[in-house]
Amino acid sequence: MPALPLADAHAHLDMPEYTTDQPQIIQQAQEAGVGLIINVGISVKNSHEVLATARRYPWIYATAGVHPHGANHVSPEALAAVALLLSDPKVVALGEIGLDFYRRRAPEDVQEQVFRQFLDLAVSLGKPVVIHTRDAADRTLAILRDFRQRLTGGVMHCFSGTYDEAVAFLDLGLDISFSGVLTYPNAKPLHDAARRLPLDRLLIETDAPYLSPQPRRGQRNEPAFVRFTAQTLADLRGQPLAVIAAQTWDNTCRVFGIHSEGH
Ligand SMILES: [Zn+2]
Ligand SMILES: [Zn+2]
Repeated sequence: MPALPLADAHAHLDMPEYTTDQPQIIQQAQEAGVGLIINVGISVKNSHEVLATARRYPWIYATAGVHPHGANHVSPEALAAVALLLSDPKVVALGEIGLDFYRRRAPEDVQEQVFRQFLDLAVSLGKPVVIHTRDAADRTLAILRDFRQRLTGGVMHCFSGTYDEAVAFLDLGLDISFSGVLTYPNAKPLHDAARRLPLDRLLIETDAPYLSPQPRRGQRNEPAFVRFTAQTLADLRGQPLAVIAAQTWDNTCRVFGIHSEGH
């Protein structure tokens, strides 16, 4: 292991993009210094798959949830299936859940209703949440405010809003996770947020296979590339990479309740 273990707080290792080479992708992550991956589920079926992968590697953990794109298909049976998955010790959070008003694959009111059902479940199980929000920051905030003080924390994944939005989420007890979007030269408001937010509330992620960082833009993303986001965060804040790596690692372990001696 390189001297700097990095935690990738959000990846999708069980997407079709990795069907032919998932073991190599995981090995490349390890060789690049990644010592912890949160493998995120996007549907009931995919949540079973990410758990199966997590069981093969002591340093990979799973989540269970239904992405807002799939909100039309969240039946009581689906909620029960997610609840059952969350009883497994390797399933560390409920997600990804949330609102996506950009692609709108499900009507907004259906997305909001399902989001609330999952937040209720997270409260009743005492599990942290992984939240996806796109073109829906105001509604996401409004709904989360209804759950203030009741959630066991969580993360705003692939955060790409402003400093003020980030502070509003922090105030609700959620941490902020930066993806490869942070490395894009034109992401000025995001750079401002990354400079000013408290480091003890920040995580880094790839969202692989999506959203490759600038040096690999246009290619398939993979957890090994989380180092580019870590380096950008270090450069923006004028802090050593080792500090960024260690603190984001600790934050990932705290949010997801993981006890790991990575560094
Ligand atoms: Zn997402
Ligand atoms: Zn995702």
